[in-house]
Amino acid sequence: MKIEISTITDNKLIAYNIWKMKIDAPSIVKQYLGAGQFIQILVQSSWNSPLRRPMSIASVNNNEISIIYKIFGEMTRILSEKVPGDKLDILGPLGNTFVSDKKNAIPVMVGGGVGLAPILNMHNEYLSQNNNAILILGARSADEHFLQHDPDNGIYLSTDDGSAGVKGTVINAMDKYLDNIENIEIFSCGPEPMLKAVQQYAINKKIPAKISVESYMGCGIGICQGCVVERPNNNQSENSYHEKYSLVCIDGPVYKSEEVIIV
Ligand SMILES: Cc1cc2nc3c(=O)[nH]c(=O)nc-3n(C[C@H](O)[C@H](O)[C@H](O)COP(=O)(O)OP(=O)(O)OC[C@H]3O[C@@H](n4cnc5c(N)ncnc54)[C@H](O)[C@@H]3O)c2cc1C
Repeated sequence: MKIEISTITDNKLIAYNIWKMKIDAPSIVKQYLGAGQFIQILVQSSWNSPLRRPMSIASVNNNEISIIYKIFGEMTRILSEKVPGDKLDILGPLGNTFVSDKKNAIPVMVGGGVGLAPILNMHNEYLSQNNNAILILGARSADEHFLQHDPDNGIYLSTDDGSAGVKGTVINAMDKYLDNIENIEIFSCGPEPMLKAVQQYAINKKIPAKISVESYMGCGIGICQGCVVERPNNNQSENSYHEKYSLVCIDGPVYKSEEVIIV
């Protein structure tokens, strides 16, 4: 893990309210382990906003990393106004990676909302090694998607309003396209309701799944205890805090689906 004063090389709107930024960050690239990892960005060093903002790494290319982000509040708005050449204080790489536990399984990568970034990263890593992979991405409508629905190449989109791909959520797309495929393993990242639904889908169909949890986060390095998720160990004694809860920043963000309770 490093703090690096990096240089922005590109920052573009790629879909409705969604931006892609490229950052020259050689020290962080050197320590990068794979899709799932994230960085913490100090967008503004001031008492009004002392906390860094977590962003998943969407790709790594030579000395450059990219992030894909949605404008939610003040810091992501300020990020969108940055231009090539601006400096950015980033901490990373942080967290663990998506790793397959099932030999020869076909990976099904499911992303939604701002959870697209690590899923796209994993998908590109698989394709670059000529491995088979299925990508399912959900959004509210077509203008939030920047890829095309392309079933011939294993890319399936869903939209709440039916304006692209399958009408409904990623679960509707999974129901439609996965039922006849044997030996799959699910990897997912997205908003909590989506992750909960994917978790349930995996339980119902007895499919192994890994999920990346994007909980609110303060420090990103295990000190502030701000990003806890509950583990399903309810019968532990009251003092066994770490048996009951997990810190997303240092234990995650990627978990086996059955390891955490999504509320
Ligand atoms: C490990 C991790 C990886 C992430 N990766 C990405 C990414 O690749 N791309 C991306 O766009 N975002 C990502 N996020 C979320 C991102 O960090 C927040 O959107 C960002 O911090 C918001 O900052 P802000 O100042 O713009 O908004 P704030 O003013 O901090 O928040 C505005 C509103 O956004 C919502 N919000 C903010 N943070 C979260 C959160 N973590 N979970 C749910 N709702 C939230 C709340 O409703 C809040 O009121 C990630 C979060 C985590 C923990």
